[in-house]
Amino acid sequence: MFENQYHEEMEQEVLRLEASQRARAAGHPEWRNACADCRCQLTGIEKSRCEACRGSGGTD
Ligand SMILES: [Zn+2]
Repeated sequence: MFENQYHEEMEQEVLRLEASQRARAAGHPEWRNACADCRCQLTGIEKSRCEACRGSGGTD
């Protein structure tokens, strides 16, 4: 249980860091997350691309 929870927290931390890196790359360090393709703002941290870009073919 605890190990699993720890693992999930680590994954969240990685997601958060990756998301803020995308935001910085998009020129908006104040955002929590940005789309890796079109660089629009994303509200959650779990996705690397927006709905439009995810829908345009891609595997993740
Ligand atoms: Zn996009």
